Amino acid sequence: MGHAAKPRRHNRTITVDFRDEATYFALLGTTKAFVEFVLAFLLSLGFQLTHKASCSEGGSLTRHSHYVRIRLGGLTIWRIQCTACKAVFTVLPHFVLRYRRMRPDVARQALIATHGGLSLEWCAVICNISPMALYRLLCALGQHSVVIVLTRCGLPLPTYILADEKHSRCLTDKVYLPTIVSGRVIWHLGYSDSKSAAAFTASYGDFQRVALQIEPAYRVRGALTDGFDSTTQSMRTLFPGARLGYCLRHALNKLPSKLMGVSAPVRKSLRSQFHTLLHRCRQRTSLRVVALGQRLRHFADSIATTVGADHGERVRHWFQDKKAGWYTVLADPRMPASSTLLDQANNAMDRKLFAMKGFHHPGGSQAAFLTALAHLYNLIPYQRRALNAGQCGVEVEGGVFPTTDWMLNLQILTSGGFR
Ligand SMILES: [Zn+2]
Repeated sequence: MGHAAKPRRHNRTITVDFRDEATYFALLGTTKAFVEFVLAFLLSLGFQLTHKASCSEGGSLTRHSHYVRIRLGGLTIWRIQCTACKAVFTVLPHFVLRYRRMRPDVARQALIATHGGLSLEWCAVICNISPMALYRLLCALGQHSVVIVLTRCGLPLPTYILADEKHSRCLTDKVYLPTIVSGRVIWHLGYSDSKSAAAFTASYGDFQRVALQIEPAYRVRGALTDGFDSTTQSMRTLFPGARLGYCLRHALNKLPSKLMGVSAPVRKSLRSQFHTLLHRCRQRTSLRVVALGQRLRHFADSIATTVGADHGERVRHWFQDKKAGWYTVLADPRMPASSTLLDQANNAMDRKLFAMKGFHHPGGSQAAFLTALAHLYNLIPYQRRALNAGQCGVEVEGGVFPTTDWMLNLQILTSGGFR
């Protein structure tokens, strides 16, 4: 499979917001003014630069750095070299995309259409670009991990997570997209051609590795899954000591399937009783686990007496199997109780993947492509009539951005020169 990221040269591009093109061209003429502007911008961001490991400059640039002007594709741009470690930073103005002829305003429209679920081909038609150019743009944006971009927005690493795999297809093969969500943001969107515990551990491990690089003491306290074995096992392997809960809404939807042969109105009424039961237990302020244990027993008994002993027995077995995961949800009030927000993220991906034939071939850059889709999910503001209209997921979760423009934020946050 060709979905592993290829090794590449260290990218030390820094995208700088010059507000308008005229300002940029005016500044180009005077080194002092240009450098002052760039330094002021870096200061306002509060980001450090990726100098070489040995550098004594501590992540900043000084007025003594070395500056050169070069021509790139007809445009003059500046390169700044750290005199201590010799790392060279390319200052890219906001109206240029790295290595791409496509202008950011064209890219913006194409990315919004992509995010909305329009196929690459149709996005390309309405923006008058080639589908391959759009695919490559996405893959370039996806070189930067979701964890890095989210922490650059000031979001803390998530202590309670939702984890589940979205099912998709690559041509005729089944593939899986291991996903981690916390609140309104996607923290990981991986790709796996197997549903084994080992494969999921490898994918979720990518998230953990980047998180530990940022915060060596990072620990997940709780993870909610739908109870699928490979998911649970991979969580247990990667986050030993974390509470592992099972989604309560998933349990609710599963109950009718345990009552095969029972008439629909009866199943519906039992589902609603189960709903009330779970809801009442969650509302309690103490002894929630004890209360759930008692009520599950009574509920199974009542099913045995009202619809039949075999049904009662089947439901009792199912409870036995899953109750530890439900207890976990009730034992810690900070645990998420349902994976609704993860389902929403998966549904949003579904529309895009269905519409994108470019994604569905084994030689594609799936990892980068999916990461880019996750960036769009996190950064593009919700539409006008939505609950959090005008805000994006990162903002709803309390993150802050360098600018008020999502496209510019995407350019800046995925710049390779910041750390
Ligand atoms: Zn340096």
